[in-house]
Amino acid sequence: MTVTVVVGAQFGDEAKGKITDFLAADAQYVVRTGGGPNAGHSIHLAEGLVILHQLAAGVLRKGVVGVSGPGMVIQPFAIEQEIQDLERRGLLRGEVVLSDRAHVLLPLHEIEDGWQDDLRAQKNPGAGIGTTRRGIGPAYADRAARWGIRLTDLTRPAILRERLDVLYATKTHLTGLPPMDTLVGDLGEVGSRLAPRIRPTESLLWDAIARGDRILLEGAQSALLDVDFGTYPYVTSSHPTSAGALIGSGIPPTEVDAILGVSKAYTTRVGSGPFPTEDTGESGEFLRRVGGERGATTGRARRCGWLDLVMLRYAARLNGFTSFAITKVDVLGGLDEVPVCVQYVMPDGSTARDVLPSQADDLAKAQPVYERLPGWPEFHERAKERIRREGARALPSTLRRFLTRITEETGVPVEFVGFGPGRDETIRLEVGGGPSSTAGLAAWTG
Ligand code: GDP
Repeated sequence: MTVTVVVGAQFGDEAKGKITDFLAADAQYVVRTGGGPNAGHSIHLAEGLVILHQLAAGVLRKGVVGVSGPGMVIQPFAIEQEIQDLERRGLLRGEVVLSDRAHVLLPLHEIEDGWQDDLRAQKNPGAGIGTTRRGIGPAYADRAARWGIRLTDLTRPAILRERLDVLYATKTHLTGLPPMDTLVGDLGEVGSRLAPRIRPTESLLWDAIARGDRILLEGAQSALLDVDFGTYPYVTSSHPTSAGALIGSGIPPTEVDAILGVSKAYTTRVGSGPFPTEDTGESGEFLRRVGGERGATTGRARRCGWLDLVMLRYAARLNGFTSFAITKVDVLGGLDEVPVCVQYVMPDGSTARDVLPSQADDLAKAQPVYERLPGWPEFHERAKERIRREGARALPSTLRRFLTRITEETGVPVEFVGFGPGRDETIRLEVGGGPSSTAGLAAWTG
């Protein structure tokens, strides 16, 4: 088995980082395929918590190359800091490689992000789309406009100056930009420090595939935030889907063996946008408190609600999931019953089971129809120890029923279950009888 794609099935923060780190124990390459410093993948090591923003989860494992891929927009000063912080903590065990084709996120993009958000709010108070104001959207827009700066330009001062000259000419609506000469100097310096890591990563990965090396593609953000298929305009500016992971790495579709969708046992969302199963009452507060639902990058409180199988079916069809990783099942432990949304009733009385309306306003009016499944006991340390020792058969039967319902409703087997944030709190279930690629993934990690 060579290439496995790991992508989020909801609105982000599903624990893609933890699952990728788990699988990376058996991989040679892990590639971050999109996004930038807006991501925050939390991984709990024995040495403490690590939050990876622009580095791939593989950098924490010896013998693994962590690639920050061509689909990313990279803030060079922040990624240098991230590398140094890991080195200082003695946790940089893999190798860091950065794609020469990745675009550069500049301080002016952050200023532009704020300017755009203010403009939206001015025109229509309450219409902010909830961006992190980290400059991700404007950096992707400049990439599409073809006046973006790429990492390769940082090591070529004459080209860098020429390109910045054009870019600055497009930003006359912004104030407070750093003088161009200062920026050219700073970027040149950071570029020469990062230069040994900046490489043509697509050919590195093609060679790895030819050798039979194992590669994980680690998506950032998630399916429902896809710029085309998510809840536009409350979305990110890239394609956090399995197709996007291929474009964001340069790996062709024919090389992919498995596509793993990561979902929490409930749903969360950061920022604005429709969220049919949101619970703004006591239950939502319970999920936020017990699940520790605050953004790893922004610290913002996440909106919380129940598992939405309409969204999971949509994400499964969009991404072609061969299996699911369901995380944070421990958070629901102790509830008498666990509601899951099986369909929506739309304002015109029609029902929706696996399609989402293209208008965010219509989705916001969808009424969730819940099935109430029996809950499972709290996960005390003794129960966790049993699961570590005995595997899936030690999971409570009502939790197994919950996982089976996910498969019945989506047609996708559940292959991994997360029952705590720790590295040893993920187990793999047997998924016999699934599609060959899923069986392959089972063999791959077993
Ligand atoms: P990512 O961006 O998709 O990698 O997700 P985040 O790191 O933003 O958020 C996931 C959060 O849940 C992190 O704080 C993880 O440490 C934590 N976490 C991951 N898996 C589990 C789990 O199975 N149970 C619990 N209780 N917490 C988990």
